[in-house]
Amino acid sequence: MEISEILKKNGFAFKKQFGQNFISDPNLLDAIVHDAGVDGETTVLEIGAGAGALTRALSKAAKRVVSYEIDKTLAPVLSETLSGCENAEIVFRDFLREDMAALERDLGEGYAVCANLPYYVTTPVVLRFLEEAERCKSVTVMVQEEVAARFSAKENTPEYGAITAAIAHRGTCKTVRKVPRTMFYPRPNVDSAVVRIDFGGGFEVVSEKAFRETVRIAFLSRRKTLENNLIHALHISRERAKELLALADVADGVRGETLSPARLGKLSDILFELKIIN
Ligand code: SAM
Repeated sequence: MEISEILKKNGFAFKKQFGQNFISDPNLLDAIVHDAGVDGETTVLEIGAGAGALTRALSKAAKRVVSYEIDKTLAPVLSETLSGCENAEIVFRDFLREDMAALERDLGEGYAVCANLPYYVTTPVVLRFLEEAERCKSVTVMVQEEVAARFSAKENTPEYGAITAAIAHRGTCKTVRKVPRTMFYPRPNVDSAVVRIDFGGGFEVVSEKAFRETVRIAFLSRRKTLENNLIHALHISRERAKELLALADVADGVRGETLSPARLGKLSDILFELKIIN
């Protein structure tokens, strides 16, 4: 039976507040599984099982699939759509409230994330992996096209921001597929893209917390100079701000968005080592 018929039969009502835009095209689903590099050795973590279309495609290719779903009314639907998918398990909980360390212990080393993400939580979900994950190999997710542009933006562009720097610190990111809005039901108002973040090959910083704070300050007010943002956020004098920026080889009058992620990392090391930020 088609997924749409199973949803109908179970009287399922789509909930906009949970970002429920489902995909059902088998070619697209298989292509996303391929984009994520899933094979018989891979343990996959999915966020947002929905009606289980991607979960099923992942289950065919992977060793194991653990999929979170916040909406318990999908339980009868999923028990039908995933019948026979012995290596897939659904966890009916809010992924954002899960204990990441415990989850990673269960998933093991080198798991992959693959998901058609609910758009309202894209950034917090991706940030959880960037800031907390220790065993994750890659994150392959469907996001809004404009968000995809932010993920791999270059400095000095309007798309460049805190999330770009956070991704570049942990690894590399590329847009692997554009997906038009017509591929979803219900149809959203925006087009989408699949992005893949591969962990590793980023740059080191002395303190993760100081790096996050430095990035936050750099983008505090995009129209202000980095010097002014530092003065405002750290309550330091103009002279002190100039000194700190000189130590980081940052020229006078530049805005935070002109610094590459690695240069923001260098600035954060200086601020941390001088105990300006802890
Ligand atoms: N994977 C399905 C597909 O591709 O057709 C559904 C994707 S749909 C865009 C996102 C799913 O995430 C919805 O089913 C929604 O209920 C679920 N969801 C939303 N917020 C969540 C959260 N915080 N934790 C777990 N699941 C969530």
